[in-house]
Amino acid sequence: MRLTRFFLPILKETPKEAEIVSHRLMLRAGMMRQEAAGIYAWLPLGFRVLKNIERIVREEQDRAGAIELLMPTLQLADLWRESGRYDAYGPEMLRIADRHKRELLYGPTNEEMITEIFRAYVKSYRSLPLNLYHIQWKFRDEQRPRFGVMRGREFLMKDAYSFDIDEAAARLSYNRMFVAYLRTFARMGLKAIPMRAETGPIGGDLSHEFIVLAETGESGVFCNKDVLDLPVPGADVDYDGDLTPVIKQWTELYAATEDVHDEARYEKEVPAEKRVNTRGIEVGQIFYFGTKYSDSMKALVVGSDGTEKPIHGGSYGIGVSRLVGAIIEACHDENGIQWPEEVAPFRVAVLNLKQGAADTDAACEKLYKELSAAGVDVLYDDTDQRPGGKFATADLIGIPWQILVGPKGLAEGKVEIKKRADGSREMMSVDEASRHFQ
Ligand code: ATP
Ligand code: MG
Ligand code: MG
Ligand code: MG
Repeated sequence: MRLTRFFLPILKETPKEAEIVSHRLMLRAGMMRQEAAGIYAWLPLGFRVLKNIERIVREEQDRAGAIELLMPTLQLADLWRESGRYDAYGPEMLRIADRHKRELLYGPTNEEMITEIFRAYVKSYRSLPLNLYHIQWKFRDEQRPRFGVMRGREFLMKDAYSFDIDEAAARLSYNRMFVAYLRTFARMGLKAIPMRAETGPIGGDLSHEFIVLAETGESGVFCNKDVLDLPVPGADVDYDGDLTPVIKQWTELYAATEDVHDEARYEKEVPAEKRVNTRGIEVGQIFYFGTKYSDSMKALVVGSDGTEKPIHGGSYGIGVSRLVGAIIEACHDENGIQWPEEVAPFRVAVLNLKQGAADTDAACEKLYKELSAAGVDVLYDDTDQRPGGKFATADLIGIPWQILVGPKGLAEGKVEIKKRADGSREMMSVDEASRHFQ
């Protein structure tokens, strides 16, 4: 992409309405725009990041055996009356009527709809286990939408739903999602710690929230600091094998949100120098809720003994759009964003430090064409801004690698590679630079 042809509305001023750094940087870098309280348009740079996060979430859900489908954003109120949640959900639910005065709602979550789909088709234990997910916009009329995309009213969520014949099988499904979540967040460059959590309006008795530690987070958390250094399973993890050793390792050290925190146990189990009491951002949550929805909505399957039983369910959410903000909270410095490579909107930025000079133009064109042809996402800053402005823009938008092409270096046949994450620099020839990223 040539910057002169791209749409990157960078703000010079720091927006006053933004209270936290990720919100400020997203606005300054032209990633999104507020259209109404808690409702955002995703501008091209932000949209590229959102899509990358979505792709990682999808790959890890698929790897763990979950199956993607797509449910609508609008749902019938009657469906929610079946589970009893239409009245219970309260003012966070956006209720709508169509021209026939039929009551609808904009889905805040999808337990009811997926249960309705499941019960229409699945009648036998032989079809289980089953885990269905989608990545779809949700609406919750939050009392205090704030911090930009971190607490929006309209937001993108991945939500998966597992169906099993009994509690033991459901716990295996829960464990698969637990491990998939460890991998998902680690691939995004995040340390997201699974912490024991309250189940809230979803119901049930087993739940973990995945929390990224950050002072600006809205949840209070308590954990043993050793949990921050536990290893994450590799891509070769066997989801059909025994995952209990991984789960055991990640759940035996104390880690809990303030809602379920047990101070006496914390003091007993965690030595004083290992106690971490801080704040964090909830980027995902997993629940086992047993027969809560299958009882009320009659999702029954015939078991191996020939009798009908309600299925045991779990649900598994990831805040896809919230993650864009959470990653920035974790990855930035005073000059701007430092994207981890897997989610970056572009992998490499080529900065022409003397636009219009024959040698720099030729070297930049060569790099841009060769890298693009090799499938590398390149942003070529071909504007007539001065070098200082180009450095500032590249640092602000956080592209992981910058290739600086200036007349001084080129006189010696060299360009400079800068790594955004640590500022380290290396000189190499144009050909070497081109090969370096292919
Ligand atoms: P919170 O405690 O932040 O209100 P929640 O517990 O109500 O979140 P869940 O029902 O667990 O949210 O939804 C799954 C995930 O969706 C959350 O872990 C979070 O990452 C994301 N999420 C929830 N509400 C919002 C929101 N208003 N804006 C952006 N993401 C959200
Ligand atoms: Mg909430
Ligand atoms: Mg929560
Ligand atoms: Mg939650």
